[in-house]
Amino acid sequence: MTRVLVINSGSSSLKLSILDTSTETEMASALVERIGEPVGTIAVRRAGADDRDEAERTDEAEFPDHSAALARTLELAAELEVHPTDLGVQAIGHRVVHGGKAFHAPVEVTPEVEQDVEKLEILAPLHNPANLRGIRVARDLLPGLPHVAVFDTGFFHTLPAAAHTYAIDREVADDWDLRRYGFHGTSHEYVSHRTADLLGRPYDELHQIVLHLGNGASASAIAGGRAVDTSMGLTPLEGLVMGTRPGDVDPGLLIHLIRDRGMTPDEVSTLLNRRSGLEGLARARDFRELMQRVDAGEDDAVLAYDVVVHRLRRYIGGYWAILGEVGAITFTAGVGENVPRLRADALATLASWGVEIDPEANERGSGERIISTPSSRVAVLVVPTDEELAIARACDEVLGNTGDRG
Ligand code: ADP
Repeated sequence: MTRVLVINSGSSSLKLSILDTSTETEMASALVERIGEPVGTIAVRRAGADDRDEAERTDEAEFPDHSAALARTLELAAELEVHPTDLGVQAIGHRVVHGGKAFHAPVEVTPEVEQDVEKLEILAPLHNPANLRGIRVARDLLPGLPHVAVFDTGFFHTLPAAAHTYAIDREVADDWDLRRYGFHGTSHEYVSHRTADLLGRPYDELHQIVLHLGNGASASAIAGGRAVDTSMGLTPLEGLVMGTRPGDVDPGLLIHLIRDRGMTPDEVSTLLNRRSGLEGLARARDFRELMQRVDAGEDDAVLAYDVVVHRLRRYIGGYWAILGEVGAITFTAGVGENVPRLRADALATLASWGVEIDPEANERGSGERIISTPSSRVAVLVVPTDEELAIARACDEVLGNTGDRG
């Protein structure tokens, strides 16, 4: 297997990428946004083309559903000669957010798998239905190819019971599978492997903390290759402060809003999923905008930034205590890779624990790199995440193991 189409299907978006897994390079990509709205956008890109005409096709129109959006994307891809058929794509890998207790590892999609993913919609109503839609429209429009589901929760199936158990009535928790599952697992797994490789350390001997800071944000503690804690829980709301989500809040706050302040559960859901985090605190959804306003000294932006840093420190310190010893701390995703000041501030209080960032290496440079000083007791790294590549590799493994495909 060498060519894989990776699909990340969201409620109103589709991200596609075609990768060659033998060379680990991306051949083409596409982004569809605002599906179901009056004006949606599609951009299809062919990698490595010099001439702009050969490199990109875009469209702006109404795409009423995922099927219409994918159909139009494939037309544009055909114009650029990067239609999955042109490129000899042999399998399709899908990001599926919630794998529940059933899925510990990537699997080939069968009718039974689809049913199980559908059953998990109750635990991930914002994500799993959109992921399933991606699987179904791809099967309709690109028939005859195997599909593999790669679960965001998979890497965290090793969490010890002490880390994944909510301290609530056991029966209630057991009846409804209420536990901490963790998300962004594909990224934490990929980045933690790269960290060990870059340090030349065996993966199963390194204790590390990975900080995935994007629009969604999560931290993980990994002991000798095994995830032992992570900041997201039953849903991707728990943990760090995010673009539009609050991370940890007192559950009593939700009861208060519903019982004493008259909010409906749907209103609380909107508050927590869309009107919290940077958006809620500073009306800044984007970290770039937030930092510009922090630099300008705007009070609400400064407070939002301080809350982000405080929460990060709390998790880093907590995970250190759980791990006992830490060999590496790695930053990844849009914010983690691009905001040196946040990296420095998150670790600023750890000098007495032997964490020493090299300001020069932190400020400059790009790509995978070590940003701690040679004398730092703990290596600090920046490792760009590559969930598409990780999903494509997982497809190879799953289908290669079946023995009947090339
Ligand atoms: P997701 O995959 O969760 O949508 P990303 O990993 O792409 O998120 O991260 C998006 C976030 O990264 C946004 O808040 C964006 O502002 C931030 N970001 C990306 N590039 C930069 C940059 N150069 N400087 C500051 N923030 C950045």
